[in-house]
Amino acid sequence: MRLRHFALAAAMTAAALLSGGMTGSVSAAGMPAEDSVNQVSVFPAGEKNPYGAYFTGQSYLQMLVAEDVPIGNVTFEPGCRNFWHIHHNSKQILLVTGGRGYYQEWGKEPRELHPGDVVEVPPEVKHWHGAAPDSWFSHLSVEVAGEGASNEWCEPVSDEEYGQVR
Ligand code: MN
Repeated sequence: MRLRHFALAAAMTAAALLSGGMTGSVSAAGMPAEDSVNQVSVFPAGEKNPYGAYFTGQSYLQMLVAEDVPIGNVTFEPGCRNFWHIHHNSKQILLVTGGRGYYQEWGKEPRELHPGDVVEVPPEVKHWHGAAPDSWFSHLSVEVAGEGASNEWCEPVSDEEYGQVR
């Protein structure tokens, strides 16, 4: 009985923390508080993304594993998404860790993403990934790169294209 009570209390505390992270941090103006960047994932957000020139909006990057199988934590502010791009000779695996976002392949419908979702991005497929308009979003990016792998950055996801997602 005592244990059950404790478990319930712990669950309620976790719920309070979660709601604090998702809604409690929204300011009176309705914009997410700046520190939301550090609340969306259990992994460190790192610094402003050095590849920011290929993103619409602000993103953050923390490399977690630098060599062999590179793994980075990518955090997107609400509305932020990367440009259409192609991973040549490299498979990318997205492990969604926080918030709500989208993945879209060229010519296909956007796929809504939530924590726990896994996306396998095949080599040579043009795509983008990023946050929903009203939510922070974070995913781990795992690179399985072949010989001579490279990234090709294409055009930005237009407001019209992004307007398909909610
Ligand atoms: Mn990608």
